[in-house]
Amino acid sequence: MDNTALWKLSYGLYVVGVKKEEGRFGGSVVDAVAQVAAGDQPALVLSSMKNNLTNALIKSAGRFTLSILPANADPFVVANFGFQSARDADKWANVPYSLKDGLPVLDCAIAFVNCNVIESKELGTHTLFICEIVDAQNGETAAKPLLYADYQENMKAAAGEAFKKFKETGKPPAEKKAQWRCPMCGYVYDGETSFEELPDDWACPLCGVGKDVFEKVE
Ligand code: FE
Repeated sequence: MDNTALWKLSYGLYVVGVKKEEGRFGGSVVDAVAQVAAGDQPALVLSSMKNNLTNALIKSAGRFTLSILPANADPFVVANFGFQSARDADKWANVPYSLKDGLPVLDCAIAFVNCNVIESKELGTHTLFICEIVDAQNGETAAKPLLYADYQENMKAAAGEAFKKFKETGKPPAEKKAQWRCPMCGYVYDGETSFEELPDDWACPLCGVGKDVFEKVE
């Protein structure tokens, strides 16, 4: 058998959110997910490595969320959920998320699904979870989904760098700051200070117009 032939199967990248203990969550990056039924009783299967804490947490909690990552995801998000274990890290503390029906969903997700496990089957190194989809919602951004092959080709190195930096500093990357643009001359303020509101005495360094003219770039 030529295992490289299997690399040509297509997968996305998803982040599992699952209860660990009261108010704390585990989770990890998974790729082996497929929707296997639609209509009135939508279902999916998730295959998860037995060695991962996520596997044990899914078994004990019986329910989880999947955050569907955007193609332009911050590589740190993949590193945070893929390169360390929830045994010794509070992964969800490092990323913006909100709770959906008591379970965490990434703010950057282009969509999420909420699943209940209805059956599971052990497959050597992995457990196959057969799940009913009890909720599914689109996120606020309309990016394309991140595919596993694109991650391997374009994002893996950046994820490695992001994780190295995280280990060195002990801090996740700062949230993207608001930028301010001068519509008169095109100047963009993208400096160290994150201005949610520009100071009253603000003036464009290029053309001199005041703060009222500046536009926030989201
Ligand atoms: Fe200007």
